[in-house]
Amino acid sequence: MIPTNKIHSITLPVPYAMKTVNVFLVEGALLTLIDTGTNTPETLEVLKSGVKSIGYDLRDIEQVILTHHHPDHSGLLEVFKEDVKILGHERNKPYLTQEQSFLDYYNEYFIENAKRYGVPSLFVQKMPRSIKKIPYSCKRSLTDVISEGDQLESLFNVKVLYTPGHATSHIALYSEDDGIAFGGDLLLDKVSSNPLLEPPLEGELERPKPLIQYNQSLQRVAELPITKLYTGHGDPVTDVKGLVEIRLEKQRARAEKVLEMIRKQPLTAFEVCQMLFPKIYEKQLSLTLSETIGQLDYLENLGFIRLDERNDGILVYKANEHSVSN
Ligand SMILES: [Zn+2]
Repeated sequence: MIPTNKIHSITLPVPYAMKTVNVFLVEGALLTLIDTGTNTPETLEVLKSGVKSIGYDLRDIEQVILTHHHPDHSGLLEVFKEDVKILGHERNKPYLTQEQSFLDYYNEYFIENAKRYGVPSLFVQKMPRSIKKIPYSCKRSLTDVISEGDQLESLFNVKVLYTPGHATSHIALYSEDDGIAFGGDLLLDKVSSNPLLEPPLEGELERPKPLIQYNQSLQRVAELPITKLYTGHGDPVTDVKGLVEIRLEKQRARAEKVLEMIRKQPLTAFEVCQMLFPKIYEKQLSLTLSETIGQLDYLENLGFIRLDERNDGILVYKANEHSVSN
C-alpha cells in the first residue's frame, strides 16, 4: 500500500520533443526518486526547486530507481550524494557506464544495420560514427540490479515488473495491494510510446525485437488490476486496459498497412519507412526506421512476411503466399 500523500510528482523540462518528463519523489522507508530528468542545467534547477517545495534537499534523496536508461529518465544521476542507492534493470548498465568500446559498437551496429535495411549511403554517411557520450546523459551506474518479481521493502514493497519494448532496460513498479503503479514510458496518456531498436548485448546472438516485446509488456499490464499508473510523460492513466486496447488496435492497423505494401511488391525496411512516414523519415530516420522494423518484426513473427537477402547483402521483405490477413 502506498499512501498517495507520500507520492510527489515533479514535472521537469527536457530538450526533447516531449518537452517534459515526470519524476516521482516517494517518501518510503528510503526517500526515493523514480527517474531523474536529463543532464541539463534547466532540468536540474527545476528538480532542485521541486524537491525543495516538498520539504527536502537533493542530498536527502537516499535511493534513485530508474524505469529505463534513456537520458530523460537517467541523465541527472551525477547530482545525488555519493552513497545514494541507484536501482535499475541490468540492461541499463552499458548505457550508463558508456565505455568507449560500447559506444563504438553501438554506432557501428546502427550503421551496418542501416545499410542492411536498405538505407541509401547518402543517409548512412550522416549517421554518427563516434561519440564520447550520449547527449544529455551522465556516466554513473547502478549500485543495485533489480529484476522481475523483486519486492522493494525500501519502497512500500512495490513489485518490479520487467516490461521491455520501449527500452530493453524498462521496468515498471507495481503495488499489489492498492494497484498503484509507476510505468515509465510503457504507456502514455496522449501519445504512443515508441518501441526502439537496440543492438544485441554481449553474448546475445540476435537483436531484441522491440515491438513484439512491447506488445507483450502492454498486454501484461492490461491484465493487472492497476488503479492508477503514473507515467513518464503526461498525466497518470486510470483505465490501463482500455488505453492498451486503443494502442494495440492502432498498431494492428499500421501493420495491416505495411502488409498491403509488401503484398504489392517486395520492399526493404527503408522503402517501407519512406511510405509510412513520408514527411518525417528524413529528419527522424532512426526513430521512424525503428518503428518500421518493429512492424516488420511483428508481421514476420505472425508468418505474413519473410526476409530474403539480395545479392548485394540488402534485406528485402516478401509476402508469404498463403498468408491470410485477419
Ligand atoms: Zn524513454
